[in-house]
Order: sequence, then structure tokens, then C-alpha cells
Amino acid sequence: MCLVAAACAALPDIDFFGWPVAHRAITHSLAFALIGAVVITAVLFRRDQWTQHRTRIGLVLGLALLSHSCLDALSTYSFGIEFFAPFSEQRFRFPWTPLGDPTGSLAGQLMQEALVVFLPAVLIGWLGLRRRGRRLMSAT
Ligand SMILES: [Zn+2]
Repeated sequence: MCLVAAACAALPDIDFFGWPVAHRAITHSLAFALIGAVVITAVLFRRDQWTQHRTRIGLVLGLALLSHSCLDALSTYSFGIEFFAPFSEQRFRFPWTPLGDPTGSLAGQLMQEALVVFLPAVLIGWLGLRRRGRRLMSAT
């Protein structure tokens, strides 16, 4: 499940590798996240053992897909994200764009991504594991 979610978080950049659409367009849209989550859940989690968890899995995969677009919208690397493709070609960026070092240095870029992406992800993961541990402890 975690590997599939990680793959989903990277999947929108498939448009970067020769995909015949503009970068950060349809594969970064809300529609792609929704349809992708439904299709991936239906294909990879179709066995009976997943039946009770399928809705939650689809939600997690959809959030993983959408997280990529939201993180891209925090950057200054491009003209923005087509969140509403294929219905609109309007590109959006969040008002706060902490990713995208104006000096263009790789070290500055990596430092920004560590502070804005990696550390919050580690904190959220740690809090999730703590919460899960508490639930497991109270169940026994
Ligand atoms: Zn992207």
C-alpha cells in the first residue's frame, strides 16, 4: 500500500517523460487525481481482502496524487498547475511559493525542499505512527 501511494505521488510527472501533453497540465489536475485513484484502487486492490478498506485506500491514493500537484503549486519552477484540466487551461500557483531558489543553486533548492517537504512529511509520519501505536495499545 505504501509503495503504491509513493508511486501515485510521483505519477503526475509522467508528463515530463515524453507524454504528449503539456507539463503540469492534465496529469496534475483534480480530475486525474480522482480518476487515477479510482482506477488504481480498482485494479490493484480488487481482491476480497481489500473490500472493507477500498474506500479508504482510494482516498489515500487520491490524496497522494493530489499532494504532488499541491507541492508543485508551491514552486516557482513553471507557469503553474492546471488544477481544472481538461475543463480549463488556467494555471494556478499558491500565493506562498517557498520552493524555487532564485539563485538557482542546487544546495539552496535541496535545503528548501528539506524544510518545506521532507521535514513536515517526517513529522506527519511520526505523528501517524504515534497515533496508530496508541490505538493498538488501547485495543490490547
Ligand atoms: Zn509535477
